[in-house]
Amino acid sequence: MGMDDKVYRHLENLVGSGFVTRKKEDLVCYSYDAAPGNAFLPDAVVFPKSETQVSEIMRLALKKRIPVIPRGSGSGMTGGAVPVQGGVVLAFSRMNHILDIDLDNFTATVEPGVIVSHLHKAVEDLGLFYPPDPASSDVCTIGGNVGECAGGPRAVKYGVTRDYVLGLRAVLPCGDVISTGVSTAKGVAGYDLTRLIVGSEGTLAVVTGITLRLLPRPACVATLAVCFDDMEKAARTVSGIMRQAVIPRCVEYLDEASLFLVKDRLQFALPKQAKAMLILELDGDEITVKAQTEQIRQFCTQSFALDIRVAKDPGQAAALWEARKALSPVLYKIANQKINEDIVVPISKIPDMVACIKSIQAESGLTIVSFGHAGDGNIHCNIMYDKTDASQAKQAKKAVDRLFAATLELGGTITGEHGVGLTKMAYLSWEIGRVEQDIMKKIKAVFDPFRILNPGKIFPDS
Ligand SMILES: Cc1cc2nc3c(=O)[nH]c(=O)nc-3n(C[C@H](O)[C@H](O)[C@H](O)COP(=O)(O)OP(=O)(O)OC[C@H]3O[C@@H](n4cnc5c(N)ncnc54)[C@H](O)[C@@H]3O)c2cc1C
Repeated sequence: MGMDDKVYRHLENLVGSGFVTRKKEDLVCYSYDAAPGNAFLPDAVVFPKSETQVSEIMRLALKKRIPVIPRGSGSGMTGGAVPVQGGVVLAFSRMNHILDIDLDNFTATVEPGVIVSHLHKAVEDLGLFYPPDPASSDVCTIGGNVGECAGGPRAVKYGVTRDYVLGLRAVLPCGDVISTGVSTAKGVAGYDLTRLIVGSEGTLAVVTGITLRLLPRPACVATLAVCFDDMEKAARTVSGIMRQAVIPRCVEYLDEASLFLVKDRLQFALPKQAKAMLILELDGDEITVKAQTEQIRQFCTQSFALDIRVAKDPGQAAALWEARKALSPVLYKIANQKINEDIVVPISKIPDMVACIKSIQAESGLTIVSFGHAGDGNIHCNIMYDKTDASQAKQAKKAVDRLFAATLELGGTITGEHGVGLTKMAYLSWEIGRVEQDIMKKIKAVFDPFRILNPGKIFPDS
């Protein structure tokens, strides 16, 4: 149907005519995210440059009952930024400034459109450290990370986005601006609205400013690549490492199919029998890192590792991470469609989960590629299939059902960091009870009684 001309002109007046578009070719670019198969055209895309503009846009949207969908870079894996009911996409590419890095109090204050790797570099240049590092850090935004409570390889030691958000500025669906949290190390006045908004997938409020906690930059980092001739051995090693006193900052797992896909990107030849690899990273002062590297090396040897390599310089470490980060896009070499799930199981259950994935693969006849942040039990399972083949699509859906059922049986969760969005809505009730969902829906109604903010997400009846 498209957008009413009067409303469109009002939006132009609010942000300037160069910063709102309804050209079809532009709308298409904002109709999808990284979750394949979910494309819905918005009616307009608006590029605000300030919190005041966001507030005015929300007031207009509420008056006209127009859906508004906050969007960072659209790298989300569950359709979170997809405008399922049309409306206005709020794109934050102009609100991309690091406003302050406070060296005395170890905080950074940023706008939501800051690219995560830009923040990493800016604080590291000053001897500080912002740990959350989703594999998409070169493209995704802090606003999107707050929306999804993003994790990443370093979460195993340092936690996820929510552990670093001290306070937020946000615009409510009615246009009011709120300020949550603190800019101090502690603060418990009232309910924790910050934590409520972090991970709310853009359904409660539009985040316009974020104050983040920083750490001192670790002096030394050691990166290891450890190969195994058997997936279960690698999985058991992960559980074993996590029971040691040493906490690596990353414990990433790549299965045989993953290794096949990235082997040409590695700076070393994989042993012929390699069927799984762990990327381990330790950080701290030089003496501790040296001692811990030796301890981990010995543990991996006792766990029957085929090959253990320690990166000799930052270049070798970077090459290893580049191969790991290339995995998600290169999966399309296997098949033209993937369902990517980010299940998490308790660390002690990783070997059971790995065995279970193997049996789901055998039963479905499809290729399932698994890799991910095994140190915190977060395994990314990619079910690959031919989207033009209805029977394969059916098998893929069955495989997801089995995967989630097995995950929950092992005491896990259906999503560790990608959120529910659109693609996991049908499974929410598998994990979250009716009473708990009712509480969540009431919270949504308090923030957004007219359901204009990112409608059609998380709850099947939203
Ligand atoms: C190759 C690849 C690797 C990835 N690796 C990881 C990983 O290791 N760990 C991980 O956690 N994720 C990973 N992801 C998923 C994705 O990058 C993250 O979910 C990321 O946080 C999304 O950021 P974005 O800027 O692209 O947000 P978008 O996809 O644009 O939006 C994500 C959600 O946040 C909401 N949102 C965005 N901005 C705002 C705002 N200002 N206010 C309120 N809500 C907002 C949106 O409405 C949406 O619901 C990966 C994705 C890809 C493609």
